[in-house]
Amino acid sequence: MAPATIATTIIVDLRSDTVTRPCADMLYAMVTAPVGDDVWGDDPTVNQLESEAAAMFGKEAGLFCPSGTMTNQIAIKCHTSPGDECICSDSAHIFLYEGGGMASNSGVQARVLPSDRGLISAKQIAAAINSCGIVYARTRLVCLENTTNKGGGTYYSASTLREISALCKARGLALHLDGARIFNAIEASKEYTPLDLGQIFDTISVCLSKGLGCPVGSLLLGSRDFIDRARRARKAMGGGIHQAGFIAAAGLFALKHNIKRLSEDHERAQQLGNALSGLSWVEKVEPVETNIVIVTLRPPLEPTFMQEQLKRRGLLVSSLAAGTIRLVTHLDVGQDAIDWACRVLKDFVPEDDVKDEAVSTAIY
Ligand SMILES: *Cc1c(COP(=O)(O)O)cnc(C)c1O
Repeated sequence: MAPATIATTIIVDLRSDTVTRPCADMLYAMVTAPVGDDVWGDDPTVNQLESEAAAMFGKEAGLFCPSGTMTNQIAIKCHTSPGDECICSDSAHIFLYEGGGMASNSGVQARVLPSDRGLISAKQIAAAINSCGIVYARTRLVCLENTTNKGGGTYYSASTLREISALCKARGLALHLDGARIFNAIEASKEYTPLDLGQIFDTISVCLSKGLGCPVGSLLLGSRDFIDRARRARKAMGGGIHQAGFIAAAGLFALKHNIKRLSEDHERAQQLGNALSGLSWVEKVEPVETNIVIVTLRPPLEPTFMQEQLKRRGLLVSSLAAGTIRLVTHLDVGQDAIDWACRVLKDFVPEDDVKDEAVSTAIY
């Protein structure tokens, strides 16, 4: 399996944990799912997924949506009125990567706080809540991301979450969790369960298409009343899917089979981090907490150059910030693939400009 030359055609895709494809058993669950018309509320597979996920987190109801962007955007819309302010970190997905949706969908402005690798504190939030004079935007909502994406897979401690929750309750603010990778946080922290998080947050967004390996889908969880309003907002955004049970079946499969194994992704991310530390072209590797590895390149190396060079060797990586590359482990990257990727990274010499363009077809 060892690719002695570049022409050996192995591609390991570490750009994101969204790149996974459904395994045969997941596909089987999908094609054999009982379905109805979910816009009429009678798709049994969607209904089962929504109620199982809600029960897991101790919430009354759930809403299945095409994407995590949509679950976040619907949550923001249903928690706020136009002109309100939403507090989040300066690297939050809702602020950076949702197409300005907070403004265009809800007429809400973001109050972004400088973060410690994507994490913000109760003290910072308390200081950012506007007083009620008419000159101020009304602070209405706090959104936390757990784990953080641009922050590099960091997660909140239980004590910080409880402090922020107590603050929001005392000040009458809604608290939303962007839990795109919430099961990674639960697995890594071992300090809180889904039920604990259901107590801490008013609403929770959970992605099925990240570490859980589904081709599509996210869930918004909350009170019955909130989810009734969210269902209307989903329809208005064009997110009502008729026979959605075919894709919801992937979600049911993932909740059952793909949560426990997330610790493997974390171990493999750790292995990548270890392999990268101390390499000549690496300035710094951020501490690896879950399945994301952020590497600062030694100047003058540029992410685009590195991405191209590694791609020619069969390894795909991404970049979310100047001077850095990002590697994300997931369900479709097994131990062999990680061992191979570690070797490619260790053997890499920036000056060594590979001419052979032959990159492959065999996908891990
Ligand atoms: C991926 C992600 C989302 C949702 O992304 P979609 O591609 O719209 O499903 C939301 N928040 C965070 C932190 C993410 O990483």
